Amino acid sequence: MSDPSAGAAFEALLDHRGRDLLLLVDDNLRIVRAGTEAAELTGRPRVTLPGMSLIAAFGSGPLDAVARRCASSREPQTGEAELGEPAPRTYVIDAIPLAGGGMVLALRDVSAQRRAERARRDLLANVSHELRTPLTSVRLLAESIASGSIEDGPTVRDFASQIERETDRLATLVDELLDLGRIESGETRLALEEVDPAAVVATLVERIRPMADRRDITVGMLPEPATPARAMADAARLEQALLNLAHNAVKFSRPGGEVRIGWSVTDSRVRFSVADDGIGVPLAHQARIFERFYKVDRSRARAEADDVGPDSPSAGLGLAIVRHIAEAHGGSAGASSVEGVGSTFWIEVQRA
Ligand code: ADP
Repeated sequence: MSDPSAGAAFEALLDHRGRDLLLLVDDNLRIVRAGTEAAELTGRPRVTLPGMSLIAAFGSGPLDAVARRCASSREPQTGEAELGEPAPRTYVIDAIPLAGGGMVLALRDVSAQRRAERARRDLLANVSHELRTPLTSVRLLAESIASGSIEDGPTVRDFASQIERETDRLATLVDELLDLGRIESGETRLALEEVDPAAVVATLVERIRPMADRRDITVGMLPEPATPARAMADAARLEQALLNLAHNAVKFSRPGGEVRIGWSVTDSRVRFSVADDGIGVPLAHQARIFERFYKVDRSRARAEADDVGPDSPSAGLGLAIVRHIAEAHGGSAGASSVEGVGSTFWIEVQRA
């Protein structure tokens, strides 16, 4: 048996399945060897690649530039490129010159890492934005009071209670963020038990009624299934999720409207539904409302929230929390809605 050769090792690596890949390229930037994955990335049959120029095969300026720098400097070079159609992925490229001429290009897929970095940046931007608005209000109100320019007591008291409302909003935002963080990281352990869906619905109706009364909205129950069933749920978390849905139903309804809450069953799941005849969600936004910080229209959402009071700040986190609670239960959450007609939001958990 002969010793393993470097050539054989390289051939093996070329066809190593994974997200990282290797290419052998000559000094004229023509492909000498490419594996199956590289071929997949170009969308061309593997046999057509040898002899083809890098730029013709991949259509990527940045990839070509790294190889070109390596060919002219004869030094290792690195760069980054988006490769593949129709869903490009991000690769870090190492171009390493070979002693006898040509180079090897090692491509490392960093799409997931870049996505996570982007998500972190977006999160920071969103959090900063949501914090800045109430903070600016508090600052302006406090400045007015401190300047001594307001003489009358009632106005000072009004400013002070506005400050209170804004700080409540900030506190809720921070609580929601911490909560979301805990649920997302899986840190929150659910205390699953058998719960009676009818009792959950009845409690929810009672808890939402004061807020609904204030806005002249009726709260009722949807028809119940004929046969009893039990859900496997962490009762407190389930109630928290449903309360978020019920809050929204009231918040986005018009005075005189009706919110109805109920439950139904399939073979394996229990579905809790909150239906309203409110303003509904425009079709274009429906796919995104469960994302954190997503609001259909900031000015509209803010106006609605102010109308309801300081207990309902609007940061666009409510539905993200609902979805995460549902998923932590091995269930799901969703909505159907018609703009101007109303919405039904639901959360499903396992049936006991
Ligand atoms: P928030 O209510 O804090 O803005 P949510 O995550 O709870 O955030 O909701 C996201 C968006 O989804 C809301 O801004 C609103 O536009 C829309 N939405 C949620 N529930 C309803 C509903 N029942 N009717 C109409 N729109 C809704």
